Amino acid sequence: MKNPLEALTSLFREFPGIGPRQAERFTYHLLSGTNASREQLAKEILNLGSKVSLCPSCFKFHTESSNLCSICKNPNRDKNILLVVAKDTDLSSVEKSHAYNGLYFVLGGTIPLLEKKPEDHVRMQELKSRLVGKDSPKEIIFAMNTTSEGEYTREVVELYIQAVLKEKNIKTSILGRGLSTGTEIEYSDSETLKSALIHRTQVGEQ
Ligand SMILES: [Zn+2]
Repeated sequence: MKNPLEALTSLFREFPGIGPRQAERFTYHLLSGTNASREQLAKEILNLGSKVSLCPSCFKFHTESSNLCSICKNPNRDKNILLVVAKDTDLSSVEKSHAYNGLYFVLGGTIPLLEKKPEDHVRMQELKSRLVGKDSPKEIIFAMNTTSEGEYTREVVELYIQAVLKEKNIKTSILGRGLSTGTEIEYSDSETLKSALIHRTQVGEQ
């Protein structure tokens, strides 16, 4: 069995982008703090489970008392456009750019190249259901990272929903110029995202 230092360090190592040295530093940082500060941290972590819910329409995490998140229930948002992102932090970046007033759909991840069970990694089925529902959009914008995994995810998801797109006459577009290869939505500045949204390219027209 791991001792408490090793146990916590190995949990930090599971965080995105955290290596063994950083994970160890987090553990020692907590050790150097007070019992009160550790209790506060533990409480906030538990609150994530009890006070945060998943929006049943866009699958964004939120802390509203209502079922739907504040974006989905806002009557001023344009229901004709649905922007598809991989994760919540990408959605936050687009919101901060103030360049978009439509609705969102959070896939919940990306699909590793040549994955045999893509539906285990992203909410493809949920997206399909969202499109056949009564609030079907007229356009879907894929705002994925311009990495091979981001593009692969878009291709697989698009293929999966192809029949619905055709049946409902929904056009799809991807973020345009301004996003160079390897760009991650999460780390893009507002101006870049704004320009990429304005210059989005309709799929099939490229
Ligand atoms: Zn929502």
